[in-house]
Amino acid sequence: MSEWRSFLIYLVTDNIMSRKELVVSALENGTVLDHIPAENVYRALNLLNLKGIENQITIGINLTSKAQGKKGIIKIEDKFFEDDELNKLALIAPNATVNIIRDFKVVEKKKLTMPTEVIGIAKCRNPKCVTNHQPIKTRFTTVAKGDEISLLCHFCEKISKIKSVF
Ligand SMILES: [Zn+2]
Repeated sequence: MSEWRSFLIYLVTDNIMSRKELVVSALENGTVLDHIPAENVYRALNLLNLKGIENQITIGINLTSKAQGKKGIIKIEDKFFEDDELNKLALIAPNATVNIIRDFKVVEKKKLTMPTEVIGIAKCRNPKCVTNHQPIKTRFTTVAKGDEISLLCHFCEKISKIKSVF
């Protein structure tokens, strides 16, 4: 099992010469979300309702990943999620991995499962959709075509690409 005691985050700016290395404090207990596409890190914070919580959160953006080019990582102190909360993240970060840390050690590693339904967290792009006019929770079925994820509205059957919804 990996140790997170000397967790290193590289903050890479456009200019490689000004690369800075920061040693980020170790995570004693909590969740590390890894392999998030760098451009989706802030969307991930929204999706997991992490704005405004008091837990200590460390974010790394534009870390170099062999598989992904640039990736992002989010560490949340003392926070453990339900699987269906985490699986929402698959919509914008299908290859993300989740590391559960207890007492500085990774005690569980898991992959995300793409949810089949998305309820109440995205807006329908159809201006005429009933969900845009009445206080009804939006409800979509996920449709995957290769790497591209779209959402099919339960009410008006409009298909929206995930990028246009979040
Ligand atoms: Zn709709």
